[in-house]
Amino acid sequence: MIKVNENYSKIQASYLFTEIAHRVAAHQSANPGAKVIRLGIGDVTEPLAPAVVAAMHKAVDDESARETFHGYGPEQGYAFLREKAAKADFQDRGIDIAADEIFISDGAKCDCGNIQELFSDDVKIAVGDPVYPVYVDTNVMAGRTGANEGGRYGRLVYLTCDATNGFVPSPAGADGCDVVYLCYPNNPTGAVATLAQLQEWVDWANANKALLLFDAAYEAFIRTPGIPHSIYECKGARTCAIEFRSFSKTAGFTGVRCGYTVVPKGLVAYTKKGDAVELRPMWTRRQTTKFNGASYITQRGAEAIYSPEGAAQCRATIDFYLENGRIMKEALKSLGYEVTGGGDSPYLWVNVKGDSWAFFDRLLKEANVVTTPGAGFGRAGEGYIRISSFNSRENVLEAVERLGKVL
Ligand code: PLP
Repeated sequence: MIKVNENYSKIQASYLFTEIAHRVAAHQSANPGAKVIRLGIGDVTEPLAPAVVAAMHKAVDDESARETFHGYGPEQGYAFLREKAAKADFQDRGIDIAADEIFISDGAKCDCGNIQELFSDDVKIAVGDPVYPVYVDTNVMAGRTGANEGGRYGRLVYLTCDATNGFVPSPAGADGCDVVYLCYPNNPTGAVATLAQLQEWVDWANANKALLLFDAAYEAFIRTPGIPHSIYECKGARTCAIEFRSFSKTAGFTGVRCGYTVVPKGLVAYTKKGDAVELRPMWTRRQTTKFNGASYITQRGAEAIYSPEGAAQCRATIDFYLENGRIMKEALKSLGYEVTGGGDSPYLWVNVKGDSWAFFDRLLKEANVVTTPGAGFGRAGEGYIRISSFNSRENVLEAVERLGKVL
């Protein structure tokens, strides 16, 4: 008799986006004429940069001629992309990361979901609360979390991220943990961590033989000087951290699909006997066994992000989203709301001083504006809503006007 992986039954139903869709659909059918503005989504709205489009067109031409055709690519991704990423994202910023420590993938979600395969079943894991659900659910599927009781898994450690700690937890709460997921700029709170805060985590991880899984999917939104774009800006991070990067929000690749993961040489985890095992060869093995690479066309498109014109075009698009965020943040603040994020991040985390679903319903019914209730990201998200800056300027201005009338 075939038996199922019963860990799947422990996953909390992805209540959040299903429930939002349900409530929005009900509202729309009751109000067929209403123009609903969606500020809940985490997907980009602006098209690809022209330099990326041109590079992808050229790559299609390459694929159409025998002499320039590319089939299966190199295991870690094409050197042309890894070298440019290593140089622009790290070396030019004085960070010691080499091209052969970069693994190109089809996006950060797969990588931050798959990475847990490298760890033993009994590692103790810490996540932020609120949290990007992928970190949690992939460990639930793997049987590492125990049952869910009252919205929390018994074997996970939750690091509360709230106004009292500026939405950046300190390592004190992770004592005894082996693996910690960190995400800065954060989804959903939009908060950023300072170099000193990340350095504290790195020092803690090195002292405790723990591993940091650092999700930098939103680093391209950082504009404040001194805020770290990479965990490897911290001294000693090479021996305790893996970093995930995504081109999704950096360059509008949510539909194209490309990202990468950095696994430094010399980074180790331990066997039960205490022997050190290098993670980079393990990740190479994992990827070459289960993944056949991002397409040549995609990787040529990603390469173009690093050309001077591609970089300028992508930066301009992010500046556009950041301006959306600034407009909404100013408006909400002038209405008396505390807002985190929206500066170095595409997300605004708004303290609604009450039930987050009730506030969501109010904005939907009275302003025809869709947001994301913070409670859906974890217990500590209750009392907040997440607003996304990914939208047209026209919609943002209209949403702000409506919120001004309703709030
Ligand atoms: N990490 C975080 C924190 C995210 O918010 C997202 C997407 O929303 C991802 C990773 C996934 O990125 P990708 O599109 O590269 O899979």
